[in-house]
Amino acid sequence: MTANRSLLLLPGDGIGPEVMDATRRVIDWFDRENRLNVDIGEALVGGASIDAHGMPLTDDTLERAKSVDAVLFGAVGGPRWDGLDFSMRPERALLGLRKEMELFANLRPAVVYPALSHASSLKPDIVSGLDIMIVRELTGGIYFGEPRGIEDAGGGERRGVNTLVYTTHEILRVGRVAFELARKRNGRVCSVDKSNVLESTLLWREEMTRLGAEEYPDVELTHMLADNAAMQLVRDPRQFDVMVTTNMFGDILSDCAAMLTGSLGMLPSASLGARSGDRIPALYEPVHGSAPDIAGTNRANPLAMLSSFAMMLRYSFDLQEEAALVDASIGAVLESGLRTADIMEDGARQVTTTAMAEALVREIEKRA
Ligand code: NAD
Repeated sequence: MTANRSLLLLPGDGIGPEVMDATRRVIDWFDRENRLNVDIGEALVGGASIDAHGMPLTDDTLERAKSVDAVLFGAVGGPRWDGLDFSMRPERALLGLRKEMELFANLRPAVVYPALSHASSLKPDIVSGLDIMIVRELTGGIYFGEPRGIEDAGGGERRGVNTLVYTTHEILRVGRVAFELARKRNGRVCSVDKSNVLESTLLWREEMTRLGAEEYPDVELTHMLADNAAMQLVRDPRQFDVMVTTNMFGDILSDCAAMLTGSLGMLPSASLGARSGDRIPALYEPVHGSAPDIAGTNRANPLAMLSSFAMMLRYSFDLQEEAALVDASIGAVLESGLRTADIMEDGARQVTTTAMAEALVREIEKRA
């Protein structure tokens, strides 16, 4: 059967290749079963690319990333490259990909598997079964607005300036991502702003309201101020389905929600660009970095990467059943008591990265 989809794997540095290898076992299983049907390429990125090609992201890798249906990214960076100039650091690869692929919507799910509910900093009865999605605007807002800088204000004073700016189209395109997601989930969007004090986010609220009424009347839209949203996330996080917000609020709230789940090794993410024809540029990656402290020891938790792969099945390839199969199998493997070192607890059995991946493949096979 010829492949009708394309995927580029960018393992990167540190534990990146280890969690990618683990994921590859699951990808290969789907491929063998003819349930993925994908052309798979692989390239170096980050420090590995610096060592081989003298730069963190080559033009060739960038072009390949732009031409495939989805990119699966491991992690980049490490002490070995820390002395390099900022523009040449491994982390520039990720920024370059986000910018050149115009990935404006960052999806950060926070899911608490019942088996891990006591690993959260909140009480199990508040977080057990949590499943929320935070959609963060990624390419606009105060992190990019002009004017910006630090200037001499005279008389020994200095002035730091940043600009929080949003235009209609920037708001609508990320809004549509959130509404579309809600349609595939529980049909609710909460838009987060500070419309009581910031005009640019009053515009955000007005545009979200109009978008909801005109294009998504079937989705329930509510609005919340960012300070209240922070409070509600730790008070009663399960009240949310999809949250959509600006770059800076999303940066803060998604990290806050992430911690409800207990471990960095469990957090997936996706970054999406604008649809062109039937293609949406997409990059999937675990939230964690290259973890140089445990790299090469087969101790990394591969589940953040595997959940990122499940997001790819769901959002880039529209393979809902296969995505649900991976998610359910992760839950079952955790339920069976297997843990990598980062989520180890009394009464559980500690396993390596490879053993976790093998257990997951067995579970998928059993359930398929
Ligand atoms: P990190 O996420 O790599 O590690 C933080 C801590 O969490 C470490 O103790 C690590 O062992 C642990 N950890 C992370 N992922 C884990 C996993 N899957 N399983 C088990 N334990 C895990 O963050 P850091 O230490 O601040 O950064 C290390 C390097 O990674 C730096 O060079 C940094 O620039 C880079 N980084 C890259 C990305 C990325 O590629 N997206 C993101 C963050 C940091």
